Amino acid sequence: MNAQESLAEIAAQVTVCEKCALHFSRKNAVPGEGPANAEIMFIGEGPGFYENEQGRPFVGQAGKFLDELLEVAGLKRDEVFICNVVKCRPPGNRDPLPEELSACNGYLDRQIEAINPPVIVTLGRFSMSKFLPNAKISEIHGHAMLVHGRLIVPMFHPAAALHQPSLKPQVIEDFKQLPQALIQMKQNKKDIPVSEEPKNDQLPPQEDTSAEQLSLF
Ligand code: URA
Ligand code: SF4
Repeated sequence: MNAQESLAEIAAQVTVCEKCALHFSRKNAVPGEGPANAEIMFIGEGPGFYENEQGRPFVGQAGKFLDELLEVAGLKRDEVFICNVVKCRPPGNRDPLPEELSACNGYLDRQIEAINPPVIVTLGRFSMSKFLPNAKISEIHGHAMLVHGRLIVPMFHPAAALHQPSLKPQVIEDFKQLPQALIQMKQNKKDIPVSEEPKNDQLPPQEDTSAEQLSLF
């Protein structure tokens, strides 16, 4: 099975998934979308109202801001893969529960495996925690980290900047730096100095626990 077929299979399974209680209230599951050969994957938190209506990620207000941020980073929406840590909408847009995150985690892992992107941008703390369990978003936003050979770039969630407008310039600034991270990742990741090795001892489990911070920004 090639990457595109794997993604289609995952999406089909997500659509009918009943592995956690979120399936009771969903209208449409939101598996994610984008090309199977995307070099960057954006991972948000979970579908909101409009995403649940349409079955597509980031199509509401946060999505509009994400579109602006992609433009700032010189990226087109149709060249990146966009998805979430939970594929069904938490009622009232509440935070996903630990059991929902762990029930859904396998789909995201399979999407990452299929696409195998050199760069993953996490949007908000839930997707950041998957790769950098002990990190604080307020401290490391915009700082690229090498985790299992992949560049993880933790960003504030676009919705956070909409709720707290003082964050907006910082989020835009962080996205402006993204092209530099991509270039450096392509050039030679071995040349990048290591400045930190955060511990990685929380859920969800990772097969290897090393993370290196890259002095890019
Ligand atoms: N917020 C998210 O985290 N994901 C979406 O798809 C939409 C809003
Ligand atoms: Fe299944 Fe994930 Fe939806 Fe829960 S959130 S029902 S695990 S697809």
